[in-house]
Amino acid sequence: MNELVIAIDGPSGAGKSTVGHAVAERLGLEYLDTGAMYRGVTFAALRRGLDPHDPEIAAVAEHVALEIGNGCICVDGVEATAEIRGREVTAAVSAVAANSGVRAEMVRRQRAWVVEHGGGVVEGRDIGSIVFPDAALKLYITASPRVRAERRVADIGGDIDDVEASIIERDRKDSSRADSPLVEASGAITVDTTGLTIDEVVDQILDLLGRAGAS
Ligand code: C5P
Repeated sequence: MNELVIAIDGPSGAGKSTVGHAVAERLGLEYLDTGAMYRGVTFAALRRGLDPHDPEIAAVAEHVALEIGNGCICVDGVEATAEIRGREVTAAVSAVAANSGVRAEMVRRQRAWVVEHGGGVVEGRDIGSIVFPDAALKLYITASPRVRAERRVADIGGDIDDVEASIIERDRKDSSRADSPLVEASGAITVDTTGLTIDEVVDQILDLLGRAGAS
C-alpha cells in the first residue's frame, strides 16, 4: 500500500472522531468515519423491517448506496444524518456489525475509498488490525467510560448513568464478537484522552507521526 493512512481505533466516545477530523485537516488528508458506514447499513436494514441479527443483512450491505462526507450521510439517496445517530440505530448497530458478510463488504469499500482518495485518516474499530494493518500510524484512542459518557451527554444530551451503561454495553459487544473484535492492533500506540484537550491530543499525534517518519 503506497497511500498515507492513519488508522484510528478505540471504543465509543473516546474522541476518535473529533481528533481524527482535526488531524486530517492539519495534514490536508480526507477523513473516513467507518462507524457511519455500519450505521448506514443498520439504518437501511431497519427500514426494510429486518431484525439486526438477520443474516440477510449481508445482502443489504452489498447493495446499499452510502454517501458519507461534508457533514452528512445519505443512505439509498435518503438524508439520514440524524437518524443514524439516533437511539434505534445505536441500539442495533453492534449486532449488524457482527455479521461477517457486512464486515467483508465494508472492508472492501474502505480499501477502495483509500485508493480513490490517495490515503486518509480512517477511524473505526478494526482499522489498524484488519483493514489497514500496514498504516503509517496506528492509534488506539481511549478514555474512561465515565468521561466518554460525559462527552456524549454534552453533545447530544441524555441521562449520564444511562449513557454510560449503554457505552459499556456497546464496548462489550464490540470487543467480544468473533469477527474483527475491537482490540489494540499490534503496533498501535495508545492515547488516553481522559483529562486532555483535543488540541493536546492532536499535537501528540502529529508528534508521533513525525517520529514515525511519515509526515
Ligand atoms: O464509531 P461509532 O460509534 O459510530 O460506530 C458504531 C458501531 O459500528 C460500533 O459500535 C461498532 O459496532 C461498529 N463498527 C465496527 N467497525 C468499525 C466501525 C464501527 O464494527 N470499523
